[in-house]
Order: sequence, then structure tokens, then C-alpha cells
Amino acid sequence: MDSLRRMDIKFLRGMGPKRAELLEKNLGIRTYHDLLFHFPTHYVDRRSIYRIRDFAGDDMPSVQVKGKFVSFNVIGEGAKMRLVGLFSDGSGVMEVVWFQRIKSLRSAYVTGTEYILFGKPSCFNGRWSMVHPEIDTPQSLPPQGGFRGVYPLTEQLRNRGFSSRTFSAAVHDILSCHPHFAETLPPEVIARHSLMGITEAICAIHHPNDNEQLRRARLRLKFEELFYLQLNIQRYARRRSSTTQGFRFPRIGHFFNTFYSQFLPFPLTGAQKRVIKEIRADMATGRQMNRLLQGDVGSGKTLVALLCMLIALDNDTQACLMAPTEILATQHFETITKMVAPMGINVKLLTGSTRKKAREEIHAQLMDGSLHILIGTHAVIEDNVRFRNLGFIVIDEQHRFGVAQRARLWTKNIIPPHVLVMTATPIPRTLAMTVYGDLDVSVIDELPPGRKPVQTLLRYDEDRFRTYQGIGKQLRLGRQVYIVYPLIKENEKLDLKSLEEGYETICDTFRDYNVAFVHGQMKPAEKDYQMSLFASHQAHILVATTVIEVGVNVPNATTMLIENAERFGLSQLHQLRGRVGRGEGQSYCILMTKRKIAGDTRKRLELMTSTTDGFAIAEADMQMRGPGDIEGTMQSGMPFDLHIANLATDGQIVQLARDTACDILDADPDLAHPANAVLSRQLALLTSRLHDWSRIS
Ligand code: ADP
Ligand code: MG
Repeated sequence: MDSLRRMDIKFLRGMGPKRAELLEKNLGIRTYHDLLFHFPTHYVDRRSIYRIRDFAGDDMPSVQVKGKFVSFNVIGEGAKMRLVGLFSDGSGVMEVVWFQRIKSLRSAYVTGTEYILFGKPSCFNGRWSMVHPEIDTPQSLPPQGGFRGVYPLTEQLRNRGFSSRTFSAAVHDILSCHPHFAETLPPEVIARHSLMGITEAICAIHHPNDNEQLRRARLRLKFEELFYLQLNIQRYARRRSSTTQGFRFPRIGHFFNTFYSQFLPFPLTGAQKRVIKEIRADMATGRQMNRLLQGDVGSGKTLVALLCMLIALDNDTQACLMAPTEILATQHFETITKMVAPMGINVKLLTGSTRKKAREEIHAQLMDGSLHILIGTHAVIEDNVRFRNLGFIVIDEQHRFGVAQRARLWTKNIIPPHVLVMTATPIPRTLAMTVYGDLDVSVIDELPPGRKPVQTLLRYDEDRFRTYQGIGKQLRLGRQVYIVYPLIKENEKLDLKSLEEGYETICDTFRDYNVAFVHGQMKPAEKDYQMSLFASHQAHILVATTVIEVGVNVPNATTMLIENAERFGLSQLHQLRGRVGRGEGQSYCILMTKRKIAGDTRKRLELMTSTTDGFAIAEADMQMRGPGDIEGTMQSGMPFDLHIANLATDGQIVQLARDTACDILDADPDLAHPANAVLSRQLALLTSRLHDWSRIS
């Protein structure tokens, strides 16, 4: 298999440098190995022939039809020129259209001969057609039955004459010269799970004889991918915990105790107490802590972070809290300062807009140790920010920070500081196991007492009047209201227009109230000013884009109206909803949408109205969108891409792979045993293009 990684596809029959270049550009396929690992996404039974009369629906799958051409016509001129064949199978007639290579195709096929066409039918003005189908004669089809693989292609490749057949043929050529591959899993692992061998699996994934063989080939290949991911993560986790020295924080001292007994604003919830205990235990071991703190929006993560920072101070080190936005950093700074200032703790805020003079003072105080807690945006990880002795870092809402940004934190101290990553995005278990497999996880699974679940309502444009009446009622009760508009990059101008119009409508409708207005393109100072109007209750309504999505805390706000809710993802809706329901009053989240929406969009919105459980929502989100979409930065934390395994649907295989990897490492931590040689070799190969991210998370 190794030699195949070095063989260039341009040497394949019928390929040549030009087409090879196209394949690399479009699909990243450069070597024989890449090509063998470009798997079909689905399969068509070679024996099943579709009848044109039975074509229906606006999203037909690719199908086979058998029949004859009745006529050929060249239509149009220049760039619009196309060849149209009329094709009949006895049950009906469809058009077959070619836009390229018209001359050669025109002479390649004749009327009256039987052909088998394979392609995706589409309906145009009541007429069915197939563009650039694959064409066989019954004689040219391989005699055996089985399935025909349908390979993922790009538009450009299709236009240049690439088809699923190109791939089958290329794979066939490679396999006939290289009929046997060296096994990439140890025999025990194969035996333990009764897996298919690698050679059979590769052949079968491209050309399965039946469903059972396909199922086993897929299982084998998925298992292998997930297994090596787990082996990689687990090996690093073990290595790190045995070699990386960290701060030992044995003391609970003055700061923690004084705060706990005199300044705690409310009794901690059971979950907060438990999590603090877990973190304390971790920080007392002398090993560097890397912990993920998950807690739904409003579960009180900030207080947990603060108490842990106080432990760091009690052990003569400094602490730092990093937030993804200026608004959020400022808000943390204000709440935390308020809580700890009476104890003489020096807290400072550092963001992109901190003035030079203040910045210099912060730098000096960090170095001489008189600054205890630094709070800020990513400005705190800039190179010129140096600490005297940084013992503990908290990263809030981690998904806004890339892996690379977090990596820089490690270099802030000779002894690496303990790291606590806090997130309100519940990470589905399989994804967490794969991407954060080496992080310890704490969960706050309890909300502070007295919270009533937010009531979520789906409303259509025609309900607007009634909806505004409801909002008026909340305002008269002295409550505040968020109104959120989508602002999505591709459509920025249009969105901004609807946002501004929305703002005017709201001002007109609620003349007796003050309306603040925030969006991402405002200057930070203006944004902060508008936010502060709302936070201080000078403004009653906040019209905004998703800039408020993360972390903003105004407990008096009880209504969240989301315009064009159909344009938001589930996790985003959940985050937005988390902005209300933070105080005593009953809160409402209103999802506004047009009446005509696609089926899966409706499913998404209805799920929101039926549950407030963040984990259920995250799971569903991953099922619907696929894991890649959910957390871009998480994906970039993965050492290699998955070709076939799917974190959203292959949870069981993830678990199987993880258990197997752990068992192997338990017995042979360094993979030094001869039977495991294949593992270390394969791992080295897979991760060779990987930077050493392993240390951060
Ligand atoms: P998140 O986990 O979303 O960051 P916050 O830390 O912002 O949540 O806390 C949400 C709100 O709950 C804040 O107003 C905070 O003061 C309050 N809170 C936190 N812990 C408790 C508690 N134990 N009892 C009551 N209220 C709490
Ligand atoms: Mg928070």
C-alpha cells in the first residue's frame, strides 16, 4: 500500500498530466492510493432498470434505463450549442443532452441500437432529460451483477468528461496490477471484531457483489479510520499525563476562603460544587490540567471559573480569562471586578481597544506580579503580554478560538499553566471523544434554582401583530426584549437592509420605549455603547444580529424574538434562546418565519419548540448537518480527514475503536511490541503532515 502513495495518477491509462491535474485540483487526488480511497457515496444495482414512465419527483436518484435512441439533433450555436438525443424505452421518452464533445459523441452512438444509460433524470417544463449520462451497450457491461458505484464528482470534472465510470475503470486498472495490499491492522484486531481484510475491503467498497459484502467493507474501513484517530489521541493523552509537569496547587487559602464565606453572591448549585471539587483535585496532583467544562447557557460557569482562579491566586500564581468578543470580555471584567474588588484583588481588562498607556501599565503589573487576574480578548495571547507567573487560564466559549490560538497559551509560562476550556455548546459525545478525547470533561448539568424553562413558540409572518402585542405586554411589565436578525456573509447587503428596516419598524411600533441597535459592522466603541444601554436598562429593546449570541447576560430580558429563524442552525438558535430565561420571570423565545419552509427546516424549528435540552439539540444538529459543519475549529483539531466514517452516525464504531485502542495501549503503551509494529508505522504515516497540536487540547 505504501508504494501506491507514491505513484502518480498521471501514469494511469487514459489519464495523462492534464486530467491528473484536474483531479488533484478538484478532489485532491494525486496518487494511486488517493484514488483507491475515493469511495463511492452510493451504489446502483446493475440489474435494476428503471422505466421512464415511472420517473417522478424533483430529486430523482441516478438510475439506469434501457432503450434506443430515436433521433439526434444539434441545437443552438457557439457556447450554447448542444447535442440532444431523443431516447425511448418503450414506456416513455426522454431527452439526452450533451454540451461537450458534441462531434465525437454524435458519431459514437446510433439510432436503433440498444443502450443502457446511467444518469440523473431531471424534469424541465414537463419533459424528462438526462445530461451527460454514462452509456453502455448490454454487451459492454461486465457480465457479473453486483453494484455500480456512484462517485462524488465536481461540476468541472463532469464537464470535462469525468464520470463514475472513469473512477471504476481507474480503480479496476490499479487493482489488476496491484491485487494484494499489506494488511494495515494487526491480526488480533481483525480477529477480535471479525473484520474484513484490507484487500477485500478495498475491492468490495468499489465493486460490491451484494449488500452484506458492502456492509462489511464499510465497517472495516470506518473502523480503521476511527481506530487510528483514537490510537493517536489516546497515545498523546497518556504520554502527556506521564511526562508534562504542571503546577501543584495544594492550598485553599485566604482569597478562596474569604470570597466563599463573605462575598459569594448566591449559594452554589450542587453541580457547581462538584465541578469545583473536580478541578481542585486535578490542580493538586502536580500534573498539568486540561479540562473541558461543559454547561448549558446560564448554568453559572463564570462563578466556577472565578473560584478556580482564586485557588490559583492562593498558590501565588496569576490567572487569566480569555473571551471571544470584546463585549463578553468587558462583561466578565465588570462582574468579576464587582465580586472581588473588596478583597483587594487587582483585575484588569485587556482588549484590542485598550489604550497604549493602560496597556503599558498592564504589561508592567503582569511582570512585577501585582496584577492578579487579567481578563481580555485574544489580545491577551499576543507575544508581548508576559506574565510573572501564570498558573491558570480560562478560555470562555472555546469554539470561537482556533486551535492555533490556544497553542500560544502554552508558551506563556515555563511550567505550562492549567487550562480550563468552558463551552456552552454541548458537544455530542462521539465528537468529544474524537476531537477532545484527551481532555478531561466536567459537566454542569443543573441550572441555578428558580429558573423557568423558556417557552418557545413558532410564529408566522401573519401572526406579527399578535406577536408584537405580546411583546408590548412584557415591556409594560418592565421586562426587556431582544430582537435578532440573521446577518449572513453571502447576503450581507440585503441582510443589513432588512435589519435596518426592522429597526425602524420596531421604533415605530414601540414609540414609548427606547431601542438599542447593534450589529457586527459597527465600530467596537459604538457597539459597546449600545449594549451598555440595554444592559443598564436605559434601552428596553435591543435589535441586533447574532453578535449577541455568546454570553451576554441581562437577566431582566424575558423575550427573544428571532426573525427569519429558518436561516439559523439549531445550535445557534439554542445559544440565542439562552440569552433569556436568566431571571425569575417566565421567558419566551419566538421563532419568526415565513409559512412556506422546507420540511427539514420545519423539523429543526419544531425541535426547538419541543425541547430546551442542549445535548438533545446538539445531537440532532450533528445528525442533520454532519459533524464537519458544526465546529470548524474542532475539525481542524483532527489530525487527518475522515473519508468514510461519519461522527454523527457511527457512534458505535467510535466506541469500539476507542476501546480497542485503549486495550492495546494498556498492554503496550509505546507500541513497541513486534505485533504492533504495523500500528506505529501506520500512525506515523497518517500523522506525518500534522503539526504538534497534541499538546494543547
Ligand atoms: P454561563 O454558564 O452561561 O456562562 P453565567 O456564568 O453567565 O452562565 O451565569 C448565568 C447567570 O446565573 C448569571 O446571572 C449568574 O450570576 C447566575 N448564577 C450563577 N450561579 C448561580 C447560582 N448558584 N445561583 C443563582 N444564580 C447563579
Ligand atoms: Mg458564559
